Amino acid sequence: MIRPETIEKILDTVRIEEIVGDFVTLKRRGANLLGCCPFHNEKTPSFTVSPAKGIFKCFGCGEAGNSVHFLMKHEHFSYPEALRYIANKYNIEIEEEALTPQQLEKQTEREALLNVSDFAQKYFADLLYNNEMGQAIGLSYFYERGLTDVVIKRFGLGYCIDEWDNFTNHATQNGYSLNVLEKTGLTIVKENGKKYDRFRGRVMFPVFSVSGKCLGFSGRILSSEKQAAKYVNSPESEIYNKSRTLYGIFQAKGAISKQDLCYLVEGNIDVITMHQAGIENTVASSGTSLTMEQIRLISRYTKNITVLYDGDAAGIKAAFRAVNMLLEEGMRVRVVLFPDGEDPDSYTRKYGAEKIQAYVTEQATNFIIFKTKILLEETKGDPIKKAALIKDIVQTIALVPELIERNIYVKECASLLDISEQTLATELAKCIVSNRKKQFENAAVAAAATPSPAEQLPANDYPTPNPDIPADQQGPTPDEAERLKKALITDGAADPLEVYERKLISLLMNSGTSTIKQPAKDEQGNDIEEENYVSAIIVGDLMADELDFKNPVYQTIYETYKNNLLEGRMVDADYFLQQDNIELANLAATLLTNTYNVSDNWMERYQIYVPTMDDNLEKDLKQSLLRFKQMKLEERINALSEKLKDEQTDDELTLLLHQIAQMKKVKVLICKELNQIITS
Ligand SMILES: [Zn+2]
Repeated sequence: MIRPETIEKILDTVRIEEIVGDFVTLKRRGANLLGCCPFHNEKTPSFTVSPAKGIFKCFGCGEAGNSVHFLMKHEHFSYPEALRYIANKYNIEIEEEALTPQQLEKQTEREALLNVSDFAQKYFADLLYNNEMGQAIGLSYFYERGLTDVVIKRFGLGYCIDEWDNFTNHATQNGYSLNVLEKTGLTIVKENGKKYDRFRGRVMFPVFSVSGKCLGFSGRILSSEKQAAKYVNSPESEIYNKSRTLYGIFQAKGAISKQDLCYLVEGNIDVITMHQAGIENTVASSGTSLTMEQIRLISRYTKNITVLYDGDAAGIKAAFRAVNMLLEEGMRVRVVLFPDGEDPDSYTRKYGAEKIQAYVTEQATNFIIFKTKILLEETKGDPIKKAALIKDIVQTIALVPELIERNIYVKECASLLDISEQTLATELAKCIVSNRKKQFENAAVAAAATPSPAEQLPANDYPTPNPDIPADQQGPTPDEAERLKKALITDGAADPLEVYERKLISLLMNSGTSTIKQPAKDEQGNDIEEENYVSAIIVGDLMADELDFKNPVYQTIYETYKNNLLEGRMVDADYFLQQDNIELANLAATLLTNTYNVSDNWMERYQIYVPTMDDNLEKDLKQSLLRFKQMKLEERINALSEKLKDEQTDDELTLLLHQIAQMKKVKVLICKELNQIITS
């Protein structure tokens, strides 16, 4: 751990031209230096270094950032490694924060637990094939369930001998301490000192991490006469956290990302049978109801999830909550219901691989439609129950982040519920507004609890990525990085709206801390001049009109400004430059080196005009806000006009036409105001 003060010293001392100069020949051009880009092949130099801003930027391939990012990119250093390189170059002594004895112990304890779990898994797996009892009881049970040697080995299944302390003795003889064995839960030590194996007489299902490390076990008892629980699981430990693990994720992750779909089942055995039937993209949340961490784990690989339910209604309703969580995380959820009394395992054994493959594909129903149908079944003829049902469904639809998808559900559910789309849409709008309000309040609370940017830096100084740490603590996933990168390519902007979004973000970053005098009224209603920060004007204006950015990266930046402003803090572009998130820093550097201008090609094609930064800042700001709103309005008018094509009742038609007319009026006002500014 490098101390925050040291990091600050390093960043203050470093000279970008000297760092880059070690790897690239640079020539001075005006205030900047120019060279051939080391990140892409080029003959004419387009790689610029700005000593004043401390950043580099390639106009050919778009790479950009500060000295640390350059080293991370060019030398494939981690963040701390890059800092150490700079410190060494400038003879800065690194004051490391030594790990405390407790931290050290925890680290080694974690390793010790992982080692003994690995040892246990291999031992149990070996007994299954090479021990008389293991073969007679364990292996024959798995064969009976139709499992082949291939999947038995793939999932590392095993058997724990039915003696009091067979495993514990074997482990201690091999040098594993009783203390560690007890902490993993493999051994239970009684008060009188007697010790015995937790899993004795059970077939063993090891639970692996994403990277294939054995974290814990689930053991199933086979003899029916004993008064023992059918399944026993490892207790929570330093390495095993049930809410963060998914059974089968190690074996399934490749197939999940390849097929862009994940099947979620209830039992471990379902995972294995499905896997054997060729449906390898299957996991189970075994032992817990689905958690947020598990959803995030899945969403590293896909946004599409199909939940497989055993056919009883009670179980389904219990699962509704879990599915709401999935929707909220932006997952697209489908549901497959099995016939009464069947589960994926029994169905597969009865009908075979081809049938189950066809079944899960053909039966997959959109979750919201599925839920509406199930609940509707219960409300027959009861108006009070039906009102509650509508409320419930609306709340579920409100969780869907995509507007287009929400609209589809409104249409389908209205027809299922036999009410007008307008009624449902109105209810939905109310629900979304109240959700937003809650989110806003929560965000304000969270912002208050977030440390200032300077305090956040050392937190980013984590060591090399650990495959067992959840994704959200590890920086961007490959997908995210790809998305962020796409957002950086100037002329690749998806549509004209994005051009204006970028312009506003550029204004925030380049001039957010500048001030502008605006006419205002004091408490007595007298005309006065009020000085405001540009960032405050932009954020205030967009909040008043409830406008957001379509591009997710811009939205993130906008929200950072907003949340900090609401807390009375000022963020500037450096805040983004100092992030160890290369992509975000890249965007910041891009916007800083190139006050954004649209190519002639763009202007011609879309007949748009983007003001340049150098004229009057106030004029620039007003225009940019108005044009952004104009574009947003245009988009809404188009969406409503599109709706006109659908079948509508007379009432709906009148309402639509009225809305469009209103928006066109606002558009005219905006145009007028724009003309005034341009010609002024
Ligand atoms: Zn380049």
